[in-house]
Amino acid sequence: MRRFLCPNCNNQIHFDNNQCVSCGSVLGYRPLQDQFVLLNGEFGEAGSASRTCVNRDLINCNWLCEHGSQSKLCLSCLHTRKIPDTSDNEKRRRWGRLERAKRRLFYALIKFDLPLAVERDNSEGSLHFELLGNESHPNGNEKRVMTGHYNGRITINIDEADDAIREKNRTALGEPYRALIGHFRHEVAHYYWDRLIAGKDVISACRACFGDERQDYSQALKAYYANGPGPDWQQSYVSAYASAHPWEDFAETWAHYFHIVGGLETARAYGLNPQPLHPGAPVLEQLEDPYHVSDHLQLIQHWIPLTVAMNAMNRSMGISDYYPFVLSPQISEKLKFVHDLIVVQQQSVKVAPFSAK
Ligand SMILES: [Zn+2]
Ligand SMILES: [Zn+2]
Ligand SMILES: [Zn+2]
Repeated sequence: MRRFLCPNCNNQIHFDNNQCVSCGSVLGYRPLQDQFVLLNGEFGEAGSASRTCVNRDLINCNWLCEHGSQSKLCLSCLHTRKIPDTSDNEKRRRWGRLERAKRRLFYALIKFDLPLAVERDNSEGSLHFELLGNESHPNGNEKRVMTGHYNGRITINIDEADDAIREKNRTALGEPYRALIGHFRHEVAHYYWDRLIAGKDVISACRACFGDERQDYSQALKAYYANGPGPDWQQSYVSAYASAHPWEDFAETWAHYFHIVGGLETARAYGLNPQPLHPGAPVLEQLEDPYHVSDHLQLIQHWIPLTVAMNAMNRSMGISDYYPFVLSPQISEKLKFVHDLIVVQQQSVKVAPFSAK
């Protein structure tokens, strides 16, 4: 993520701020322009028709509705179709934390020029989110919400926004990393697989890289949960779960690609500049826009030394590693596939990545 300055006093502000802590200006973020603007009063940007997202008061969404959009919701919130009962304070807080992570996802999707709709798109297979909690019935049964993707619909159980519950799930599943942003980056990969790979010529290259996704998905998952990952899985898969099925491998790799590009953007913004992997290679500050590089190796050569430095920083504070993963040459090839897929998409939508309906 890049750094932001208050448009009034130039003090640094953060992506989630709706007010400048230094001068008190009320602020809103315009996602398509990637900029913060000053707001007059509660409803809009000074001298323009911009409106704040209707979720601003409810969950502190600081995004503005897009110019010309009929929706009262910002670009991120309008993709959410189902939310929990907001009269329940805890549920509302959990939903708010999920939306905060989701705005970071949308920030990246916009930067990557990946296709999105600026108005709610109810057509079959369109991208949308259901952020819901488990429900207890009077008969004592509990209706559980399963996190996952189906035909454009991404469901996330809002309990994951509770740190203690998420940590418990992480430990039970033996995962080194579990975060809300990670869920969004993973699940949205399934949507883009449907949109950019299914039924397209690129599917054979995808199968060569990740394996044949036509193998039975539920059987594969059952086998994974019964037996765990195969021996030496680290050579081929970025996470143990990636070994469960080619779809999950693609989603985990895609999520890592987002981790890498987002992390590099942040490192550049804050002047972090570890030595590159190969002596003489360009240093990180010379990398232009990590969302638009031609060669994925440009990213990897900066990412690996950055993660070594960041892990050392975390260890110096006695907390878990920043990036508890190892990128093998085979995983790097998979990251190249994701990179090339996004580059081709960027070239095809150079003019207008967003469709307004
Ligand atoms: Zn200010
Ligand atoms: Zn919003
Ligand atoms: Zn998945």
